[in-house]
Amino acid sequence: MFGKKEGKLPDLKKFEDLYYAAEDARKNAYAPYSDFRVGAALLVKPNEDSVIPINKIYTGVNIENGSYGATLCAERVAFAKAISDGVLQYDLGENPFIAIAVSAGDEEALPCGICRQFMSEFAPEIVVITKAEGEIRIRNLKQLLPESFQLEKEEKTEETE
Ligand code: ZN
Repeated sequence: MFGKKEGKLPDLKKFEDLYYAAEDARKNAYAPYSDFRVGAALLVKPNEDSVIPINKIYTGVNIENGSYGATLCAERVAFAKAISDGVLQYDLGENPFIAIAVSAGDEEALPCGICRQFMSEFAPEIVVITKAEGEIRIRNLKQLLPESFQLEKEEKTEETE
């Protein structure tokens, strides 16, 4: 079973649907070198005037490169899509991103170290959804990256906005 230790039960149906969105996105992965295809689906918090609708999802896939270090992971691609679409411009509170599902097909795919750090910048409270042995697994990013690095942000002044 899942989430027993977490106290309150998560909305499994929603997270399962998110996982299937990640799985579906895998078909668009660009992985000619490893053939390790990964899909991600990022669930964004809806805002009050519904500019961002309920259950808004941004998908991502891994995008490899012949210069291996230039490869992008599915999780970071999903975040890049959401942020470039303006998600951070809406007042969504401390945690604008609710959950991210990651699928690599039959193998469970947990976010790599770079992605854990990348996500902690925008979503330290995000829930990470995977599937292993036929079961949806739910973890908090804080479990995956305890005591993460955070740099103090500059105070924004009115004039710079
Ligand atoms: Zn990664």
